Amino acid sequence: MLRVSEGDEPVELAFQPRYGQVAAYEWFGDGYILLGFTAGFLVAVSTHPKEIGHELFQLQPHPSGLKHMAIAADADLAATAGADGQIKLHSLTAGETKRVLNAPGATNLTWSSDGQLISASCTAGIAVFLACLPTVAAADSSRAAILTSLSEVSVTEPNFQEPLSSVRLVVEPSWVAVGPAHVAAGMNNRAWFHRLSLSAEEVATKEYLSRVSCLKLNSRVAAALCAGRVHVHTIEDVAAEAVVPEDESDGRVTAHEITNEALVYGTDVGVLAIFHLQQWRLVQRYRHSCALKIVSTEASGSRVAFLDDHHQVFIFCPLTESVIAVDASPSTEGILWDSWPGEAAFLVTFDSQQASGHVFLRDSVRGSYAEAVASPTKLPNGQRPLWLAGGEMGLHGPDGRLNRIMLEGHAAVLRLPDSLDALLSLRRYKEAWSAAVERPQLKKLAEAALYDMEFEVALRAFRRLKDAGMVRAVEAAAEAEDRFESAGMAALCLGQYDIAEHAFLQSDRPSAALEMRSSLLEWPRALELAASLAPDQVPLLAKQFAQQLEFTGEHAQALAQYERASGQVDCRAGLARCALRCGDVRRGLSLLDETASVDLLRECATILESGRHLPEAASLAERAGLYERAAELHVRLKNWPKVAQLLPRVTAPRVHAQFAKAKEAEGRYAEAVAAYVTAGDPEAAVRLLLEKLRRPEEAVKIVKETRNPEAAKQVARFLRSAGDATSALQLLVWCGCASEAFEFARQAGEMALLGRLLAAEAASDGAAPIAQLLEVARHFEAEQDAFLAGKFLHLAGESQRAVQLLLKAAAVGHKEALEVAVEAAAAAQHEPHLADQVIQFICGDLDGVPKDFSLVLRLYLTRGQLEEAAQVAVLMAEEEQKAGNYRAAHDTLLTAHQQLRARGGSPPEALRSRLALLHSYILARLHVRRGQHLMAARLLSRVAANISKFPAHAVPILTSAVIECGRAGLASTSFRLASMLMRPMHRPHLDPKYKRKIESVVRKGLRDPEAPEPTSPCPHCLQPLPEYELACSRCKNNLPFCIATGKHVVRDDFTLCPHCEFPAIASGFSELLETENVCPMCGAEVETAALSTLEDLSEYLKV
Ligand SMILES: [Zn+2]
Ligand SMILES: [Zn+2]
Repeated sequence: MLRVSEGDEPVELAFQPRYGQVAAYEWFGDGYILLGFTAGFLVAVSTHPKEIGHELFQLQPHPSGLKHMAIAADADLAATAGADGQIKLHSLTAGETKRVLNAPGATNLTWSSDGQLISASCTAGIAVFLACLPTVAAADSSRAAILTSLSEVSVTEPNFQEPLSSVRLVVEPSWVAVGPAHVAAGMNNRAWFHRLSLSAEEVATKEYLSRVSCLKLNSRVAAALCAGRVHVHTIEDVAAEAVVPEDESDGRVTAHEITNEALVYGTDVGVLAIFHLQQWRLVQRYRHSCALKIVSTEASGSRVAFLDDHHQVFIFCPLTESVIAVDASPSTEGILWDSWPGEAAFLVTFDSQQASGHVFLRDSVRGSYAEAVASPTKLPNGQRPLWLAGGEMGLHGPDGRLNRIMLEGHAAVLRLPDSLDALLSLRRYKEAWSAAVERPQLKKLAEAALYDMEFEVALRAFRRLKDAGMVRAVEAAAEAEDRFESAGMAALCLGQYDIAEHAFLQSDRPSAALEMRSSLLEWPRALELAASLAPDQVPLLAKQFAQQLEFTGEHAQALAQYERASGQVDCRAGLARCALRCGDVRRGLSLLDETASVDLLRECATILESGRHLPEAASLAERAGLYERAAELHVRLKNWPKVAQLLPRVTAPRVHAQFAKAKEAEGRYAEAVAAYVTAGDPEAAVRLLLEKLRRPEEAVKIVKETRNPEAAKQVARFLRSAGDATSALQLLVWCGCASEAFEFARQAGEMALLGRLLAAEAASDGAAPIAQLLEVARHFEAEQDAFLAGKFLHLAGESQRAVQLLLKAAAVGHKEALEVAVEAAAAAQHEPHLADQVIQFICGDLDGVPKDFSLVLRLYLTRGQLEEAAQVAVLMAEEEQKAGNYRAAHDTLLTAHQQLRARGGSPPEALRSRLALLHSYILARLHVRRGQHLMAARLLSRVAANISKFPAHAVPILTSAVIECGRAGLASTSFRLASMLMRPMHRPHLDPKYKRKIESVVRKGLRDPEAPEPTSPCPHCLQPLPEYELACSRCKNNLPFCIATGKHVVRDDFTLCPHCEFPAIASGFSELLETENVCPMCGAEVETAALSTLEDLSEYLKV
């Protein structure tokens, strides 16, 4: 092999010896050599430098020997002649044998120039064979008409083994055509029409004016393309005939297609025209930008796909006159629509290598569109798609046979029938519905269906997903009357806002786009839309935009938008805020007129503060009523006069504290003190009062008010140094400074004072500072002061030790100690032996000296030992009475009586009767003074009857009784008592003043019998009894006496002293109160009006 241009050394190609000798060889393609060997081998080798000598393929078609070979490169064929008497045809690209021809003795092969015929020298002469049939074929739906020999056309259907029809022709046709009812073939300007049946009878022949390049049929009409025009006519009769286009300016027809209703053609000037076969006239004419090369119509005629001169594919919808681009390969040579009725609008575009599927959607949220389905499908070599049905392509190859192949997308569905993605890519929603089971699948299906506006499917899916919100939204979208509005609403559901906007803008209600952007808060776009759609809404939208910007902190932009929105409510506030934020303080403040709300003022104050415009912030804060904030800002500004002005309205302690510090630093102590006090810092206030102002009284006052321990300590130190130990100690105790107080008291020798203060504190507070009291007690114990030690132990609740120490002190004559001991014993409720110890001490059991019995009485009463208390009271009264202290005795009994009653006890008879007697004596003296002689006489005679109980005054009492009885006319009583006085035990003690008088009474003797004592009813049984009788002779009850008259009480004239609650005869008490204004029993002042009458006396009659 020699490279001619370079004259190099030749390259020798050596082959395997088994091939034999080279019988023939020939170049083909781009640098390949095909060699035939005598041993029957056929070998293709490459001469490219990189792969030189590399065998592309190797065959042994004639094992008995190869005689000759020849190549028809255009037909992709090589022919070999063998010693076996056969000629074999091989594909050059596939390297395989395709056909075998019988030609005994054949050699010297020669191809015709078009590669269709091959001649050979045979035994019988030169033989010529048809190597390759011309690719003459046509299809209607999946029905194909192909040339099976040079003069025979067969019509086949994919599902039938046998041809539907076979037509023998008189000539070799240059084209064939097939329709629903006919098959046609022709050459030059002639055409033959045969019925599509087994007999295939010829129904017509037609001669056209010029050569036919292509002919199309429907069931009735034929359309022949002759010299750039379409000749359209009925087939079986000559009912109608036309030639289009009529207008030469429409150019020359380059492609045409016929459906049942219409003829569609495209021209070299870009006209796409529809000629209606019923109306027999041109009905539609669309002008494309450049020449059309291919036209393909969907069976129904509702979509026309075309390929233009710029290698672009489009779909034209006659109904809407819209043109949709298809994303097809630039090398596209053909277009086929799927003829299967169940398929969505589906088409393939193809070239010699591959076919690509596309679905066409007329309605979707973004209008009509075409979308590629799956990856392109590779086509077998040399084969060309003829028809497409249900994703299956019928292919026609150079060998004249029909081949079938499934497109990628459809093959995927066949492989995986449940693949939702594959089904959705083909828009097979019905099957997809069955395949969608899981929620994510349903969602995907729903969204895909919604995108394509398949509302029914989408609704079903969303319902199954229980997505009520989407169901409602999709229902609304489905019901919208305007298709674009419907699309917009669907896109909105999908969150495809730009698509939605586009659709809304095309609809009858473009404002929906604005509404959508507003509700999405996409203010800039909303504003753009509003500018054209609804200029009146611009200010409102600008305001909302401004608010959003302000919220996100883009204040400069917010300011600009607020300006755009001027006139809107609240804009002024926004403007003010943003101006302040942007540092334009003057403008911001100028916007805050009287109408500015408090909230706005507060906001602005905060803004100014954060921007360090403190004076302005302070002034706004004050305007907004934020006095504290304002004051704090003035503090930061050291604007003290202003702070002082604001202080009365400020409660925050820190402001006052700051102010106070400032004032102190200025030396204005009085103001500082006041501020410290308000700030709750009494320590600082006291410090200034003591150290700077020298006003200790005020310091003391502050300490007393605040009880602040630290302040108290300061003041105490000051007072102590000034010599006022009492006040100092007082303050320390008050403020609970225990250790300081104790230490101070110890040093100052004021421990007793401390104890008293502590005790007073305990009394007023109710809670004794126990630990301190014990400490004080221990101090006195150490000092051997039994009384004080005991007293404080008692106050601290240490009763036992207290009583011991107190009795010890009392034993050496400390009177107060005994009283405190009684208190301590009385308080120790659970330690009765202490009371016993004290009583024994008082009774003198220990030292033989009886002490004050009233203490015993107090102890018994306090301890609730009522019987013992009553006994002691009677005993004490007896002693008093013996000594002639009748009033004291009376009062002792009265007190005991009242305390016993107050403690729920009933005073014993001994106490009551003695009290009655003593009270009768006191009453008698009262009535003598008041001149009530009869009453005095009766009472004195009651006393005289018990004269032994008044030993100290027996004679004077009897003397008064005689005199009073005499005055009252009680002669016999007077005589009886006077006789008593004449007895030797009394006579020597008679007052000489009365001696003669008494003697004369006795002398006169019992002359006049006295009137009997008046009666009144017994309050119990109503038996009439003498007025002064205190025991009923009938019911044997003891009767209560009247505290005013001494008579027994009666039911219907009964009252009580409002103070001591002793009973009285109401009339008698009232009469007494006319001259005396006090109760004769308890001595309390009583108003007549305060006396009440009682219905139920039972409680007061129990005696
Ligand atoms: Zn009675
Ligand atoms: Zn009274």
